[in-house]
Amino acid sequence: MDNQYSNSKILVLGLARSGIAAMKLLRAEGADVTGADENSGLQLPADTGDADIRLGPFSSRLLEGCNQVILSPGIPTSHPIVREAARRSIPVISELELGFRFVKQEVIAVTGTNGKSTTVSMLEAVLNEGGHRAIAAGNIGRPVCSVVQDAGGDDILVLEVSSFQLETISSFKPRVAGILNMTPDHLDRYDTVADYYRAKERILINCDSDSSFLYNAADSRCGALAAKFPGTLLPFSSAGGLSDGVQLRGDEIVVMENSRVSEEIMNLSELMVVGIHNVENSMAAIAAARYLGVGGIQCRDALSRFRGLEHRMEKIRTLDGVDYYNDSKATNVEAAVMSLRGMPSPVNLIAGGLDKGSDYSKLLSVSGNIRNIVLIGEAAGLIEEAVAGSIPVRRAGSMSEAVEICRSLSEPGSTVVLSPACASFDMYRDFRERGDRFREAVEALEGGADG
Ligand code: ADP
Repeated sequence: MDNQYSNSKILVLGLARSGIAAMKLLRAEGADVTGADENSGLQLPADTGDADIRLGPFSSRLLEGCNQVILSPGIPTSHPIVREAARRSIPVISELELGFRFVKQEVIAVTGTNGKSTTVSMLEAVLNEGGHRAIAAGNIGRPVCSVVQDAGGDDILVLEVSSFQLETISSFKPRVAGILNMTPDHLDRYDTVADYYRAKERILINCDSDSSFLYNAADSRCGALAAKFPGTLLPFSSAGGLSDGVQLRGDEIVVMENSRVSEEIMNLSELMVVGIHNVENSMAAIAAARYLGVGGIQCRDALSRFRGLEHRMEKIRTLDGVDYYNDSKATNVEAAVMSLRGMPSPVNLIAGGLDKGSDYSKLLSVSGNIRNIVLIGEAAGLIEEAVAGSIPVRRAGSMSEAVEICRSLSEPGSTVVLSPACASFDMYRDFRERGDRFREAVEALEGGADG
């Protein structure tokens, strides 16, 4: 679809990273581009592709003469300007859809409530180990629009895709579409959990018999989607019981074929990342990579070197025999539960932040692993109410106070984990800043012995 944009007038709504990338791509393709953001104080990068920029509340005048709208994932489709675009029959697409229209490479797309960034990074590493040139992009920080022009034809794009981006796709069709898990999230944006799941499931809308579906067979929603899928199935499961796919057998990750182990990939002790959730992420990466021809040995080599990503069960320090982990990216309750489930030692947990409509009583399912919860942020009261009587609770006014309290509660052999189960925006710019504050507070702890 070359130069379909050369004489068009495009409106890009929302000028965060993906909006800027969309503007630059469209300008390079010769489109007349207006970029708009409601934040009138927004700091823009120096290079915006020379687009016409409008900051401040959206006016429907922005839509005059416009052929297409590129919608930032941060702006809901219920926004009045998006409704007005629909009323005027102006197509509204996501930056993911726009980027895909320029893609000449093989695409693997991964969605799911939790584990996307980790799995995409693992898969990139495993594919590269196997001799491919894989590029991780999408929600992971490099928008699709910023990589499509420079990527080579033989490269493989491994895309992290969010439900927000999937809401406004039309032709997006990955060769391998992955759903890692589906648990409630983003109930501040979606009216119902079913709406959120439907958005995620859109990753499959254009799949056909040539497509493949990478999925967690232990997740019943994924299983139901697999039953209707027209192409190749690539299941993985930490629960076992697969006749074909990647699963656990004792402490081994194995490939099953016709109900038999056809290949032993690696022992769990070879993984550097911790937690059963990371075993699942590793199995997802293995299932996709094996399908694309990467050998089991290459899978093992790459995964045994994979140290995990910052802010995802990232080990910060051992002080006085207590391990400190930063899991700031656990922005929903299921993510926190998964991280805690995998902990071999008792945890003093720092949680709280901005509520997204979560059911915090789910923390009780791992109450045996939690010795105390130290709560921060706006959701502290809600969490306290949900766990009162089962898990001892303390309150802290800042991250450093929370870390100090955890230290005072921890004995050698125990663990301190920041796994907030909430968004970060009540106290921080994002989960990264929250994790950085945790790390600084842990590094500032004085006295005692490291290691
Ligand atoms: P995402 O990109 O989907 O937000 P990440 O890989 O960044 O996922 O991990 C975010 C958090 O989600 C982690 O810190 C961990 O607490 C949790 N997590 C990671 N993988 C999984 C998984 N497979 N299942 C459940 N929770 C997970």
